[in-house]
Formats: sequence, C-alpha cells, structure tokens
Amino acid sequence: MIELQNVKKSFGETVAVNDLSLTIGEGQVVGFLGPNGAGKSTTMRMIVGFLGPDAGQITVNGESVLENPRATKTLIGYLPENNPLYEEMLVRDSLRFTQRLRAGAGGKDAIARVVEETGIEKVYYRPIGELSKGYRQRVGLAQAILHKPEILILDEPTEGLDPNQRVEIRSLIKEIGQKRTVVLSTHVLQEVRSTCDRVIIIDKGGLVADADIETLMSQAQGAKHVIVEVEGAEPVEAIKALDGVIAVDLLPSAAAGRDRLTVATEGATELRPRLFQLAKERDWIIWELYQEEVSLEDVFRNLTVGPERGAEDTEDADA
Ligand code: ADP
Repeated sequence: MIELQNVKKSFGETVAVNDLSLTIGEGQVVGFLGPNGAGKSTTMRMIVGFLGPDAGQITVNGESVLENPRATKTLIGYLPENNPLYEEMLVRDSLRFTQRLRAGAGGKDAIARVVEETGIEKVYYRPIGELSKGYRQRVGLAQAILHKPEILILDEPTEGLDPNQRVEIRSLIKEIGQKRTVVLSTHVLQEVRSTCDRVIIIDKGGLVADADIETLMSQAQGAKHVIVEVEGAEPVEAIKALDGVIAVDLLPSAAAGRDRLTVATEGATELRPRLFQLAKERDWIIWELYQEEVSLEDVFRNLTVGPERGAEDTEDADA
C-alpha cells in the first residue's frame, strides 16, 4: 500500500505538488492522469525516493520512504520517464548490470524469469541502441521487475510508441500487473480505459479526482446530449418545454428546411422516445436522432480545464 499525506514539493517558485494526499491499495492498477506539468513525474519520483518532499509523509507498506529508503526501494520497481538505458550494452549485459547494482536481488534465475515475462528472448544478445522503442520499453520493464517488487511505478510507459507497440506494452503491463500494484502515469486516456481499475487525476499539483473509471463516468452523466435534426414548425420552443431539458441550441450544419439541434438533458433523462412522440404529435419529420455518450475525454477536460476551454485541448488530450 502506498500512502501520501499532505505532500508538497516546489522547485524554486514552481509548486509542482501541492498538499497531495492519496492511498493506493494492494493489487490495484491505477492510472495517474493529468495534463503536462500537473506534477505526475514529481509525485512518482517522491514515491520511489529519488526526490524528497518539502513537507508531508510518504509510506510504502507502512515504511517511510524518507526514513527507510532501502526497505521501500526493495518493494518498488520503477520505470522512469524516457527509460534511460545504456545504448551500447547488450540486453543481456544491461540486465546483469542491473542485477549487480541490486546486489543480486531476485535470485539466480531472475534474468531468465524476466526475459520470459517481458518477451525479450529474441533481442537478448542485441545492443540496446539497435532496439525498437517497444523492445526498449520491454527491457526497461524487465529491469524494473528483476528484484520481484510488489509495486510497479511506471512513468509514461507508452510515450513515443507507435499504436501497435502501445497495444503490446499495455497488454504486457496488464499481465505483469496481475500479481502487483501498478501505478502508471499517462496523458493518453485510452490507456487508462484499457489498462486501469482506477484513475487518479491531478492538476496543478493537486488532486481533482480519485475514483474507479465507471464511477467517474457515471458522475459525469449530467453532461448527456441528444442531437436531433428535424423538419417542422418551431421545434426549439417545443423541445425546450419537455421535462428534463436543460438547454436547446441550434447547430449550424442543418440541411435546408430543417433544424439541427443539440439538446442538453439532466443526468437520468431519456429523451429520445419523448422526442419521437412529440414529432408524431406535431407532424415533424425526424431525419436524425442520437445521444452523445459522455467520454472520458469530456470528464478529463471538465476536471482539468473546464468545459469552456476544453475544445482547444482535445487533440493534446489523446495525442
Ligand atoms: P508531469 O509529470 O505531470 O508532466 P512534472 O512533475 O514533471 O509534471 O512537473 C510539475 C511541475 O514542476 C512543472 O511545472 C515542471 O516544470 C516543474 N518541475 C519538475 N521537475 C523540475 C525540476 N527538476 N526543476 C524545476 N522544475 C521542475
């Protein structure tokens, strides 16, 4: 279990982590999400003991990271951002080197075990500099799990990978995360959906959400929208008058003689059957009718930039 209590960290004037408190239980795969500069890497570096907090407490399985770094480092495997590896080393030698640095931790068979677990048999005798980004990440993960840590801290593990490599590394993380607690940072929302049980969102060094993904999505259901394209007299007023409708706005893309509308409704309202009914009563023709699902992107944007600025950042959020 990882516990942070009122943790703060600044770099000069920049407050990177601001009074952050969290608990991450055993066996969870947690997505640590936030825009660039939110404080994800800084938090992770403090959990693994590479940086000390200015204030607050961090414990791993009850041991203080500051007071007992040796014990907590044994419990944690860490894949840093950009996965720094010695380019000229063979994969075999880099694993041997890591094991020596860790005083032989993991035992005699550790290297064979991690090579199999991360699927790097094919590149075992290749220099790291010749490997694809996907294989480099596999080697980084192999190093991180050599000493059989219970907890894995992975900082942007799929950053810079192509889509196929992303899928492979995600499924590898899922596999090796089955028996461990995993915290992985990312700004790719798809990653969180496909890999994590729970999501922690931070922004400007502070916590903005901490929930399992389904809960987070259902909390956001208030933002449901129905899109309808209708041919008939004065639909805006009539739709506005329906129960549960918060707002009706005209969209610019309607065909001649029709109105295209976006209808915002309260969370539990199911508007579509009532729109059909209304169209029948008024003799309208419905050309199109669908409900827009709330996406994790919407939730993330609302929490970190607010809905009004969200549209500008869509591309960045799932780059
Ligand atoms: P994230 O991982 O979410 O992108 P970081 O933890 O890397 O965020 O950074 C949080 C803030 O702290 C940023 O404003 C960043 O510029 C600043 N920061 C991080 N590390 C350092 C450092 N070593 N020196 C100065 N500023 C830093």
